[in-house]
Amino acid sequence: MSPLEEYAGKRDFEKTPEPGAEVKETGMHRFVVQEHHATHLHWDFRMEMDGVLKSWAVPKGPPEEPGIRRLAVQVEDHPVEYIDFEGEIAEGEYGAGTVSIWDSGTFDLEERDEKKLVFVLHGSRLTGGYALIHTREKQWIWLKRKG
Ligand code: MN
Repeated sequence: MSPLEEYAGKRDFEKTPEPGAEVKETGMHRFVVQEHHATHLHWDFRMEMDGVLKSWAVPKGPPEEPGIRRLAVQVEDHPVEYIDFEGEIAEGEYGAGTVSIWDSGTFDLEERDEKKLVFVLHGSRLTGGYALIHTREKQWIWLKRKG
């Protein structure tokens, strides 16, 4: 089973401008934050790992200062090509609304297990140490570290 089966199952590629469901190992460690004006405004944080973009929807936006903790709901893996995606998803399609890139860059992964991801971001708006802590089911807390 492709890790992108859920991604593909939610979309009609004849009707959405979003990239197709191709797994691709690039050897890069990139991230993106996309601002998504859908039914509810949210930000999508994606990290390139395992040939896909691990993805979280962040209702209140990225934590820009240490001490801020933001709910991040894990969503389906996205294809790596999605890292450049900006545009309009038509009404009636999954995720309908406007997507624009809020920040992008690379990351260094420091720790990864089922309970947490610890990493350093090298973006324009997001730089320095961050962590994602798994709380329950699809829910994670995204925080900016002090150091
Ligand atoms: Mn979204």
